Amino acid sequence: MATTTVPQVVNRGGGFLVTSNKAEDVFTPADVNSDQRLIGQTAAEFVAKEIVPLIPDLEKHKEGLMAQALKKAGEIGLLSAGIPEAYGGSELDKIAITVLTEKISTYASFAVALGGTTGIGSIPIVYFGTEEQKKKYLPKIATGELLSAYCLSEPQAGSDALAARTRAVLSPDGKSWILNGQKMWITNGGFADLFIVFAKVDGEKFSAFIVERGTPGFSLGAEENKMGIRGSSTVPLFFENAPVPKENLLHEVGRGHIVAFNTLNAGRHTLGVSCLGGSKRALEDSSKYAKERTAFGKPLAEFGLIKAKLGEMTIRTYALESMIYRTAGMIEAAVSASGAEKVKQAMQVLEEYAIESSISKVMGSETLDFCVDEGVQIFGGYGYHEDYPMARAYRDSRINRIFEGTNEINRMLIIQMLMKRAMGGVLPLIPAAKKVAEELLSGPGFEETPAGAFAEEERSLAQAKKVFLLAAGAAVEKFRERLTDQQEIVASLSNVVMDIYAIESSLRRAQKSAGSGGQAAATMADVTRAFTYDAMDHIEKEARTALAGTAAGDTLTTQLAALRRLAKHAPVDTIAIRRRVADAVLAQDRYPFEGR
Ligand SMILES: Cc1cc2nc3c(=O)[nH]c(=O)nc-3n(C[C@H](O)[C@H](O)[C@H](O)COP(=O)(O)OP(=O)(O)OC[C@H]3O[C@@H](n4cnc5c(N)ncnc54)[C@H](O)[C@@H]3O)c2cc1C
Repeated sequence: MATTTVPQVVNRGGGFLVTSNKAEDVFTPADVNSDQRLIGQTAAEFVAKEIVPLIPDLEKHKEGLMAQALKKAGEIGLLSAGIPEAYGGSELDKIAITVLTEKISTYASFAVALGGTTGIGSIPIVYFGTEEQKKKYLPKIATGELLSAYCLSEPQAGSDALAARTRAVLSPDGKSWILNGQKMWITNGGFADLFIVFAKVDGEKFSAFIVERGTPGFSLGAEENKMGIRGSSTVPLFFENAPVPKENLLHEVGRGHIVAFNTLNAGRHTLGVSCLGGSKRALEDSSKYAKERTAFGKPLAEFGLIKAKLGEMTIRTYALESMIYRTAGMIEAAVSASGAEKVKQAMQVLEEYAIESSISKVMGSETLDFCVDEGVQIFGGYGYHEDYPMARAYRDSRINRIFEGTNEINRMLIIQMLMKRAMGGVLPLIPAAKKVAEELLSGPGFEETPAGAFAEEERSLAQAKKVFLLAAGAAVEKFRERLTDQQEIVASLSNVVMDIYAIESSLRRAQKSAGSGGQAAATMADVTRAFTYDAMDHIEKEARTALAGTAAGDTLTTQLAALRRLAKHAPVDTIAIRRRVADAVLAQDRYPFEGR
């Protein structure tokens, strides 16, 4: 595998809020190398040739078909990407896995099933398994001989996963764990061979176990009747005095939460990547349809309101893609070890970038929901018909805001993790917030004014960071450790954080690409301007909400005046930009920045 071109200077997770980086420090899709692209191409061709023709039968849950499809993917190596070479995997780097995941996402049910076995279903063994467990299971997961599932949720414990009631007790002879309880919503459950099951030892100590299909006392319920991703398997699991060999405990008794949550950190970034692939596809289908369909004597594509939709779908997809590849680049750059050390380090790195992974998850799922919703609208009545691609895309998209931690939970996590890093001295957020407060009291400063093609966006980005520090500083000062109880304020702050990451990632990519000139670079500059302009509006509104929920009277008046000053931004003709961007999409019927 060729070496990846990744930035040398790596920010800490969440560091983007207090540091200023350069375009060359940010990984972008243009940095993906030819080997990594080839992997993506192989995945795309496999899905087009082997999976797409099966969709009608997969949607009807034809017996055994999804398992067969996964095993076929295993035959050409598509299930082995995350498994170390020492255990029969291809141990691809984070960039290659990102490209592969994006290309697999053509059919959401297949992507979810594949992620269930290669991601959340095997990461616990890769990172926390004993040598024996790894040797026994990983080579077979890598080829698809064994398919896997991740079993955390229960009927009464979804977001509140640690409230699980499934219990494990050691058998009197000390040879096995006896499991009792129920799991709910288990992806791949209908056909998986291995189940990563979380249960409380003696009803108290949250722990993880590898359970094999066929274990006595372990049974599956019927397939759930779902709104979307109907081709995927989702079943409840039942444990009635099910004996699990003692050596199938994963990690340590009472440390199951470490296994569960670190696995989700990885899964969340991957979910955002899948959503990116889906957003591009919705754009492509919408563009083709808008050109074919005529109304009032001309193609839909010629109407301003349709162009506005295509333009905005592209703008949000671009911002998402810029964030996703930047995060993948940071994760990849931070892993320097090899062999067994690499696995240990990779887990620490995933924890380091857990904030960015949550951002991928939330921004990914909401971008995709926006794109498929606008896609349905562009298709009109045909968007509402199951014979056309948008109806399924719309149904399939909705789950992404719910699983892998709902978007509400992830929004709260983003701020909780930032606060933890600030309190622990990992991120200098507290001194930075104090500095902004002092600066605002002392009136306008004499900072260097940004220059160059993106001067206004650069200025907006710097000001947006100050807005966050102003609003977050005020909220922390007032509520302190009780801030987490103020969920609406936390969510507003989280939205500001996500927009800052999106502006910076989009801007750095556009700056990096500017040198290459040409139409694509000009369109990228357009997209970056429109995104930054709108994001500054959102940021001002969210900060205003947070401040109004925090302060009152003269203090609030002063803070809102400061906010207005910070969030001021020059007008941009976003109507003209969306039209130009839509024209770029319509010219080639696809997302215009592929590989750029
Ligand atoms: C198709 C599908 C596949 C799935 N696959 C898997 C799988 O493979 N493995 C697995 O373990 N699980 C799986 N899940 C379960 C999924 O992870 C949970 O549904 C999800 O975590 C939400 O839990 P819940 O459904 O119990 O909702 P709840 O936790 O009851 O949440 C309901 C609502 O309340 C909100 N809420 C909850 N707590 C809070 C809070 N503290 N503050 C504010 N709002 C809150 C939520 O955001 C949500 O909007 C799957 C679910 C589905 C539908």
